[in-house]
Amino acid sequence: MTPFLARFRKVLAAAGLATALAAASPVRGADVAIAWDPDLARPDDRAAYERTLRGMVQDARARVVAGLGMEPGPELTVKVHSRAGYERAFGADAAREDAARFVGEVVHVNGGARLDDRLAGLLVHELTHAALDAGGKARTLPRWLDEGLAERLSWQRRGQDGPTPGQAAELKQARERKELVPLPADRELDRSGYLRSWAAVVFLERRYGRDRVMATVRATLGGEPFEKALRRELSLSTGELDRDFAAWVGGL
Ligand SMILES: [Zn+2]
Repeated sequence: MTPFLARFRKVLAAAGLATALAAASPVRGADVAIAWDPDLARPDDRAAYERTLRGMVQDARARVVAGLGMEPGPELTVKVHSRAGYERAFGADAAREDAARFVGEVVHVNGGARLDDRLAGLLVHELTHAALDAGGKARTLPRWLDEGLAERLSWQRRGQDGPTPGQAAELKQARERKELVPLPADRELDRSGYLRSWAAVVFLERRYGRDRVMATVRATLGGEPFEKALRRELSLSTGELDRDFAAWVGGL
């Protein structure tokens, strides 16, 4: 129990709402609160479900903090919805298309009937966004960098550090079709967009190291235009970055 929640509970108890809170209360694990739809586990299995989910969230948080040197905000909650619950919250289209969404201080996960590898990777991805957005400034990052870092940490959790032969072939095909660059700065990403964004972060880290990549990220989140931060930290223009990334893909 953190001081914040302790205070919160006391205030609600004073207002006669303690019972309502007990039913809906997220449980804090490490510094991330978790909540989940009760229909995700049978009554007998709920304690085990909660324990496993809490462990996965704690692991994801630790990986993000170690990987970025940045922490999600203290009010972050991970809420796992059943498919039906997600549809109730966000509509049928979202339930069909979303894996998760990050709204305000809450990571909403669509479907958690199985606490498997896919869900663990998704948690790392979304908690990366939460850490990058802890100061409310993640939108100042180019889209490819925000998503690329989230994918990077998620894939590293599965032990994958660089493109497989299949992914290298896909990136090369994109390059030949002239669809590899420019890296997507503000559009919604399709599947290829996520792959290109992830590969661009792999490229930058291999060439410059994660510390310098993160120095660029921190400067941008701190209010400096991304182009200026990139120029100072990595001595690159965005055009040179696209060019060098494309050349790297060509050599994969
Ligand atoms: Zn994302």
